[in-house]
Amino acid sequence: MHLARFPRVRLAHLPTPLEPLPRLSEELGIDLWIKRDDCTGLAGGGNKTRKLEFLLGDAMAQGADTLVTQGAVQSNHVRQTAAAAAAHGMGCRIILEERTGSKAHDYLANGNVLLDRLLGAEVRFVPGGTLMPAELEIEAQRARAAGGRPYVIPGGGSNPIGALGYVDCAREIVVQADELDLKLDAIVTATGSAGTQAGLAAGLALMNLHWEVRLFGIGVRAPRDRQEEMVFNLACATARQFDRDGIVHRECIHANCDYVGEGYGLVDQGVIDALKLAARTEGLLLDPVYSGKAMKGLIDLCRKGVFETGDTVVFLHTGGAQGLFGYESVVGAGL
Ligand SMILES: *Cc1c(COP(=O)(O)O)cnc(C)c1O
Repeated sequence: MHLARFPRVRLAHLPTPLEPLPRLSEELGIDLWIKRDDCTGLAGGGNKTRKLEFLLGDAMAQGADTLVTQGAVQSNHVRQTAAAAAAHGMGCRIILEERTGSKAHDYLANGNVLLDRLLGAEVRFVPGGTLMPAELEIEAQRARAAGGRPYVIPGGGSNPIGALGYVDCAREIVVQADELDLKLDAIVTATGSAGTQAGLAAGLALMNLHWEVRLFGIGVRAPRDRQEEMVFNLACATARQFDRDGIVHRECIHANCDYVGEGYGLVDQGVIDALKLAARTEGLLLDPVYSGKAMKGLIDLCRKGVFETGDTVVFLHTGGAQGLFGYESVVGAGL
């Protein structure tokens, strides 16, 4: 796929490990492996670091000196963007949407918010439901007015450039599986702003593995139709950068949005039980908004027999454990 043709700034510890989960495998009746993208480094790491390598590459090619982005209050994307900016001597302006409506002190001040401030980002809060793309433009305008050269990164870093990070991750998973003699049946990931799943889908298609390795997104926000449409459109746009129009098939895009619960960033007991299971069988820290919901989905899909006994399934750990400290009042109560 020759990713070196795209500008890139190295930020992540790569390749991240692909490790077996023997105790959770036994619990779920599948051969479960984990791709440790929570270990990408960069101020706690997570899936946005891979995207930021290509986004920062593009920003630098354009001569930008300030990153501008947005997310929910406990956004991991925003934290990783603030770290990338700091590590490259750039300014960082972020807008946090009070999307969940929570007024809890830990939610508004601890976890990722504490880290954003520590990393030196300029933080501005806006009420839930604010039109965030317009807000990004306002912020970019302010940066320009102050003499800066802003580079706007959409929420979650999800555009065709950011998704290149997950084209690379798909390649990495396949190389590691070959080294381990693992025949992959499925990859499971949380899906939100869609760049992660879209990049993986485009990467699998570029390797002609899109029919053989099933890719499942577990939605954390939008209903199924909208989520699949977002993933599909972005996967197509991502493949287009390789002049491979038409290789992504709509039938290969699966998003299961049955595990969102009450809404984005809202935690139910099923999520807390998934957090507990991962922690207590494998010593693994998942997060309440994304990877914990994805694990809740994976557990249920196993119980429903979506995977056959012994299927080799890779769970992509997209990170987010730093957000646990923004949810102490909610998660702590359910332990
Ligand atoms: C952003 C995020 C996701 C979702 O990835 P998208 O590319 O936005 O779909 C999953 N897990 C964590 C921890 C995240 O921060």
